[in-house]
Amino acid sequence: MSEKFDVIVIGAGPAGYVAAIRAAQLGLKTACVDAFVGKDGKQALGGTCLNVGCIPSKALLDSSKQYYNIAHNLPVHGITVEGAKVDLGTFIGRKDKIVKQFTGGIGQLFKANKVTPFFGKGKLLKGNEVEITGNDGSKQTISATNVILASGSVPIELPFAKFDNKFIVDNAGALDFTEVPKRLGVIGAGVIGLELGSVWKRLGSDVTVLEALPDFLSVADADIAKIAAKEFAKLGLNIKLGAKLTKAEIKKNEVALTYEDKDGAHELVVDKLLVAVGRRAYTDGLLADDTGVKLDERGRIVVDEHNHTGVNGVWAIGDAVRGPMLAHKGSEEGVAVAEWIAGKAGHINLDTVPWVIYTEPEIAWAGKTEKQLKDEGVPYKVGTFPFAAIGRAVAMNEAIGQVKMLAHAETDRILGVHMVGPGVSELIAECVVAMEFKGSSEDLARIVHAHPTLSEAVHEAALSVDKRAIHKGN
Ligand code: FAD
Ligand code: AMP
Repeated sequence: MSEKFDVIVIGAGPAGYVAAIRAAQLGLKTACVDAFVGKDGKQALGGTCLNVGCIPSKALLDSSKQYYNIAHNLPVHGITVEGAKVDLGTFIGRKDKIVKQFTGGIGQLFKANKVTPFFGKGKLLKGNEVEITGNDGSKQTISATNVILASGSVPIELPFAKFDNKFIVDNAGALDFTEVPKRLGVIGAGVIGLELGSVWKRLGSDVTVLEALPDFLSVADADIAKIAAKEFAKLGLNIKLGAKLTKAEIKKNEVALTYEDKDGAHELVVDKLLVAVGRRAYTDGLLADDTGVKLDERGRIVVDEHNHTGVNGVWAIGDAVRGPMLAHKGSEEGVAVAEWIAGKAGHINLDTVPWVIYTEPEIAWAGKTEKQLKDEGVPYKVGTFPFAAIGRAVAMNEAIGQVKMLAHAETDRILGVHMVGPGVSELIAECVVAMEFKGSSEDLARIVHAHPTLSEAVHEAALSVDKRAIHKGN
């Protein structure tokens, strides 16, 4: 007889491990199966996010920012530092230590919450059984009343630029270069391309980003994207829009690229190439043929608004299903599903999921862009406020960017908030709370914000919606 659980979660990324912990908190006997192998060859919980995504990228972004500031920010403060150098071993080693701390931490949390971890590849069989294949090929089967599929995503590979993980790398490779590439090519000016491109640019790489689309960061609000593009150009990121990679050939110790734009075909030679053209839901080997779980045209597991697959007791969450591929979105789905399984009122609102790009300046938003409101014919008002007029931002020498708030023209309900500037990854949280509570710009305008703080930009943008910002002309 196979060991029986109330809940089996397949995948221990931020969607899966959070679902497992919440299910166990609710008194459900829970197992979590994961196959991720860490740099040390051992099981590493935490999925993409903790191992090769959110956490390591932020560690490198922070380290590279410290280095960059020495030459580009400290002199303004009257501080000069001679002979600053980067020791790449320590730089990458610090990141690895942080990853280990957090992936190990999930193991501790599983212990504390009595979640049983299994190491290996999980496959859902008919009847909610899960077959686990260990790295040594050994097999065992466990079963549960409920199975939560949280198998995440993997990088999309271009057929003409296949990863060799030495010269043509994915996100994992770009987190582990052993020397600063003299010339780095980045394909895709999305979140991952911009963040990792920034890391290596700050350390001295000559970075060229090729983006097939004609508009920069078309997923963000156009005004915000425009400001960001100008700032990235100042950083020295060479972003070529409407430039589609068509060929990448590894030659000796470099990569020869061919890309096409409106003027025809061009050649570019780089030392390393990061391909960051998006991620796809990962379901390879996850489902036996007769489970009844369906995939959509993009290979994502089909779920309803409660993350249920339509197959009795089978749920799916995180990057493997529709919606933004963001860690916190998966985690909240994990909590909601565990609560629905336990008969409680789970809750997830995909309309208020915040987006953050951790570049310099940071970019953050929640809700609709101005273009979306226009396309949908929703009447709206706009309030903006620049960080240049925020005392704290000026004191920090980081007075770049703005907050832009969109509210319904008649009801004043906040429909979207878009920011580029210092610390906006934190500032967006206030707006998400207001939006989740169905708040109006008037609500935020009437709330006391501490002075001098960056949050005053949110307050003033809310005031500006009704043309009554204090520290700028309206
Ligand atoms: P994953 O994290 O992909 O985890 C899935 C896990 O399931 C993996 O461990 C995988 O090995 C395992 N698995 C898959 N199939 C099986 C199977 N059959 N059996 C057993 N195990 C299996 N998001 C943010 O919100 N903020 C950020 O700052 C951010 N930065 C990022 C930076 C980079 C470079 C990258 C690549 C991504 C970043 N993301 C960020 C996205 C974020 O990492 C993902 O949205 C998130 O990891 C998705 O979580 P998940 O649990 O759905 O899947
Ligand atoms: P994201 O999905 O946010 O990670 O962004 C990936 C980006 O890669 C998108 O903006 C795509 O337009 C871009 N992209 C995809 N294929 C190519 C290609 N062959 N050359 C250049 N850019 C590409």
